[in-house]
Amino acid sequence: MSRVFRNSDETRALEEKVNSETIEAILERDREQASHAAEVRAHGGYGQCENCGEPIAAERLEALPTATRCVRCQAEWEQANRF
Ligand SMILES: [Zn+2]
Repeated sequence: MSRVFRNSDETRALEEKVNSETIEAILERDREQASHAAEVRAHGGYGQCENCGEPIAAERLEALPTATRCVRCQAEWEQANRF
């Protein structure tokens, strides 16, 4: 009917596309992280931050078994790898 409606539909479709691509990228990153964690574990470095070498808190590993960085390094990494 009016251009305004059509434009807002197009905008919404674009936003949904961006969201699903972002979700895909996050899932892909999780898969990579999981296989990376398995590799680290196989080499005996599990439970140690791969960035600063400090032990990763046990409760963090319990909540996130694929963690390969301590909370502080993970926060820095997420800042640098933001979508
Ligand atoms: Zn660290």
